[in-house]
Amino acid sequence: MQPALFLSHGAPDLALVDIPAARFLRTLFHKANRPAAIVILSAHWEEVEVEITTSPLLPTIHDFGGFPQALYDLQYPAKTEPWLIEAVGNALGEKGIQVSQNPNRGLDHGAWVPLLLAVPKADIPVVQVSLPYASSTQDYFEFGRSLSALSAQNILIIGSGASVHNLRSIKREGTPPPEWAIEFTDWVETTLLNQNWAELFKFDQTSVGKMSHPTPEHFLPLIVAAGAGDGAGQKMHIRKLHDSYSYGSIGMSAWEFTNEA
Ligand code: ZN
Repeated sequence: MQPALFLSHGAPDLALVDIPAARFLRTLFHKANRPAAIVILSAHWEEVEVEITTSPLLPTIHDFGGFPQALYDLQYPAKTEPWLIEAVGNALGEKGIQVSQNPNRGLDHGAWVPLLLAVPKADIPVVQVSLPYASSTQDYFEFGRSLSALSAQNILIIGSGASVHNLRSIKREGTPPPEWAIEFTDWVETTLLNQNWAELFKFDQTSVGKMSHPTPEHFLPLIVAAGAGDGAGQKMHIRKLHDSYSYGSIGMSAWEFTNEA
């Protein structure tokens, strides 16, 4: 049985820097069980109809601008396998969700940057699945639930976003986080540990929530991961794996959701 994870990918140059969040990701699988495969969803891929990457060798997408050339030179040679594509299609199909195969797309930086750090040899098969455009936040939780059957097949589900993400407020690396970011991070922790989903779904309705997520896409992968861990609503164990900030206010928290059924 694999847990579902929420990872914060931060700025793309996380792949090159030595900050606490990068050190955490480099040691992610030192203690945890390595999965048979990884299904990753990132804030940087949303589609109306759910899509899955199917290229046997997944291209590394450098979907950002203004960073050092060394970052554009990085390639993450992720591979996928037909059984994994089939397993995801079956899991979602059983819940009535159609999945379109996308043979051209690779991994965006929300997917390959954390994988480069956590699985540097790229020796675990991976697929990226797009986030849906759902009409309510709760739908993202339900979408995660529809992926949960994969956990029992030793497949790790990762939602990749940022626990706090307001690019207008970023500062020099090493700047202490602002009060509103700390307040939101504390609220997320309390809400998750209480498994208070109705409250979590309102994450961007308070003033600190609005500051932390002016747009929702970097928080939605956390809600998908929580839904994947919750499965059919059995007992879930939730654990904070990491907490830090990058560029002053980018929240780099990581959470683990394990279904105990
Ligand atoms: Zn991002």
